[in-house]
Amino acid sequence: VAGHGDRVTAPGGGAEPLAAEVITVGNEILSGRTVDTNFAFLAHLLEENGARVAQHQTVGDTVEAIGAAVQQALSRARLIVLTGGLGPTPDDLTRKALAQSLNRPLSLDPRILERLRERWEQRGGRATMPANNEQQALVPRGAEPLENPVGSAPGLQIEVDGATIFVLPGVPIEMETMSRATIAPWVRARAAGAVEHVTVRTVGIWESVLAERLTDLAGHLPGHSIAFLPSIGSVDVRVTLPGVAADVAAARARVRALLLERVGSYVYGEGDATLEGVIGTLLLERGQWLAVAESCTGGLVCGRITAVPGSSTWFERGVVCYSNASKTALAGVPAELIERHGAVSEPVARALARGIAERAGTAVGIGVTGIAGPAGGTSDKPVGTVHVAAFAPDGEAHRLLRLSGSRAIIRERSTIAALDCLRRLLLGLGESAKPD
Ligand code: ATP
Ligand code: MG
Repeated sequence: VAGHGDRVTAPGGGAEPLAAEVITVGNEILSGRTVDTNFAFLAHLLEENGARVAQHQTVGDTVEAIGAAVQQALSRARLIVLTGGLGPTPDDLTRKALAQSLNRPLSLDPRILERLRERWEQRGGRATMPANNEQQALVPRGAEPLENPVGSAPGLQIEVDGATIFVLPGVPIEMETMSRATIAPWVRARAAGAVEHVTVRTVGIWESVLAERLTDLAGHLPGHSIAFLPSIGSVDVRVTLPGVAADVAAARARVRALLLERVGSYVYGEGDATLEGVIGTLLLERGQWLAVAESCTGGLVCGRITAVPGSSTWFERGVVCYSNASKTALAGVPAELIERHGAVSEPVARALARGIAERAGTAVGIGVTGIAGPAGGTSDKPVGTVHVAAFAPDGEAHRLLRLSGSRAIIRERSTIAALDCLRRLLLGLGESAKPD
């Protein structure tokens, strides 16, 4: 029987995931002025390469706080990644804090000093480097400097009683470049195996309905864990594969097939696919162009579409027709139709989609009209009443949304519903199940 010691991860692989802790340093993070994107990036990188992030601390710019955080992390993690506070200004205290907390005196590293001077001269600044910058060459005893190819402050790697501390600058591009170059390969060499996920993105189905349809999935996929990650208008389903399967590709295919079988029509893509990107691919395959006429979304549909690289090869034009007169002038919606049904109505949404396609000479069109609020609602058309429509050679599609929430949320959800309305039409799928 293997003792506990045998299960601890050895270089080259083992059963136990590598426990990691991230420490982000900076008063600006604590105050909320800077969003801690470094943590998100690092957590992702560590997990992808097979470490398990067990804790995250954010501390202010004081020697005491940084030192205490490092001690706590050392008590429970074997890998510690710290970012921030390596700069040349007096509020950059990470080196000093490490030196004190680990009892490793600082000394000037002549190689780093030389590199800092060279860099200073190359940049054509003053002839002599300010004394402040010299502190970036201070290294705690036993620490290895890590090269920073995109900035001045080198990083540090320190071994402490079986744990490893990586120290990186706070500037995101420097932190990202250095962690890809140093931490990722370090973790891969020691972790039990990268964590494998299959993420499918869904739209038009409630999180609860999705969860219901996938309840027995666990029975088919023993050891897998399923997470539902909702955002406005869509839900990602992420399935984590257990350990390292012998054949990762086959394991992934199995999960994918099961998900598609259950909720296929709601799945618009995988990984970081976008709805508008998927529509672009479909239109390119069909050799068809799209035009958009939007009212309450005020350009949000077109904004998403034009964010897709290469959309100029399938997107012809979009118009924002806010007033009734502009719906007639720009998208050819008969004034009489608006008069009879109101601007926020199914016939007008359909006429917008068809009309803009005719005006633009495209095969495909999208129309959106609705009441985003907070004012402008009536008893039969309350705030959140939105009609989206799509037009294509395949036919037409329409959906009435009854949304709630702020103006921003209503506009966002309407944008996604309009894109999904077209996606479903192009794929020959029926109405979405979500009542909204
Ligand atoms: P510098 O040499 O620029 O002083 P540094 O290593 O001392 O680098 P900080 O001073 O802590 O890093 O931060 C530099 C910049 O990076 C700041 O503008 C800060 O907003 C940003 N930054 C720092 N930490 C983070 C973080 N965790 N997430 C996102 N941005 C961050
Ligand atoms: Mg700084």
